[in-house]
Amino acid sequence: MRFNSETFADAVLTWFDVHGRKHLPWQQDVHPYRVWISEIMLQQTQVATVIPYFERFMASFPDVQALAAAPQDEVLAHWSGLGYYARARNLHKAANMLVDEFGGQFPGDLQALQSLPGIGRSTAGAIMSLGFGQHAAILDGNVKRVLARCFAVAGWPGQKRVHDALWALTESLTPKSRTGNFNQAMMDLGAMICTRSSPACHDCPLSHGCLAREQGNWQDYPGKKPKKTLPVRETIMLIAFDEAGRVLLRRRPPEGLWGGLWSLPQIGARQALDEALRDEGLERLAEPEDFARFRHTFSHFHLDITALAVAVREDGRTALEGTGRVWYNVGTEPGGMAAPVAKLLEQFQEF
Ligand code: SF4
Repeated sequence: MRFNSETFADAVLTWFDVHGRKHLPWQQDVHPYRVWISEIMLQQTQVATVIPYFERFMASFPDVQALAAAPQDEVLAHWSGLGYYARARNLHKAANMLVDEFGGQFPGDLQALQSLPGIGRSTAGAIMSLGFGQHAAILDGNVKRVLARCFAVAGWPGQKRVHDALWALTESLTPKSRTGNFNQAMMDLGAMICTRSSPACHDCPLSHGCLAREQGNWQDYPGKKPKKTLPVRETIMLIAFDEAGRVLLRRRPPEGLWGGLWSLPQIGARQALDEALRDEGLERLAEPEDFARFRHTFSHFHLDITALAVAVREDGRTALEGTGRVWYNVGTEPGGMAAPVAKLLEQFQEF
C-alpha cells in the first residue's frame, strides 16, 4: 500500500486516539504561551526532563508579561541544567518583543511568529496548530525521522534539497482538520515508535506503507551528516628537559590556537632544532629522541604532532624572549595547559 495524504493522516490520527500523549502539562489549559515554552524546552531535551522545568517555569512566569518583566538572570536560573542557554535568552528577548511590539498578545500568524528570536518555521507551526488550533505543518527532529523513513527520503536533512523535500512532504500530509492532534501524533510517533536506534515497526501505524520497513533499511534514514575531510597540519613539539627533569614550557599568544595556555616550544622541521634551542638560551646535551607521534583533531583541521625529547642545559645567555616561559616540574599541577601537551607530559613523566 502507498499512502496518500488522506490515508496517512487517518492512520496517524487513529493511532493517536489510542496511544498518543494527551496528558502532558502543556496539553492542559492550552495557550500559545504554554505551547511556545514547551516547544522551546523540548528542543534537544526529552519530555520526561522537560516536565518539572516546565512546571517550575510556569509557576514563576505564568504569562508573557511575567516573563518579560523578570530579570534575565532569574529566567536563566529556571533554565539551569537544561543546557543550550541561548534558548532561555531568546525566550526572554522574545517575551519583551511580544510585550513591546505585539501588545503582549501572541500573533496568530506564521510570519510574525518567525520574526521572534528562537522561533523557526517548525516551532511557529507548532504554536499555530497546538496553541491556536490553526492549520500549519511542523518538521522537528522526530517528524523528520518518521517521514524520511516512511517515504525513503535519502540524504542528510541539513542539505537544502533534503530539507525542502521533507517540508514539502509534511505540508502535503498535514490535514486541515485535527491539525494539532496530527502534529502531536507525529511527534509522539517519532519519540515513542520510530525511535532513532530501535524503531518498533510492528507497533507502527505506518508500517504497511513504510518504504524503509519494506526495504529493511530504516538505519539509512535520515541520512547522516557527511563527514568533512579535514586538512592535516604537522608540528614538532620539543620536550626540552634539564638535569632536574624539568621541562621548558612557553605560554601561547593570547589569541588563536590554545590562546594563553602553556605549551611546548614548537618547530616546523627537525633541522630547526638547534637554532630553536639557541633562541631559548639552551645547549643540547645529547641527540634528540623521537618520543611520541599522534594526531590531535580540532574542529577545522587535524594536527599531527611529533614530540622530540632532548636533554638540555641553559647556555648562560639570556633567551631571546625571556618572558612567558617556565621550567615546569613534571607531575605538578599544570594550570592552563593545552590538552595534547598535558597528555604528552603525563607520558613523559611515566617514561
Ligand atoms: Fe519507522 Fe518502522 Fe514505522 Fe517505518 S514502520 S515509520 S521505520 S517505525
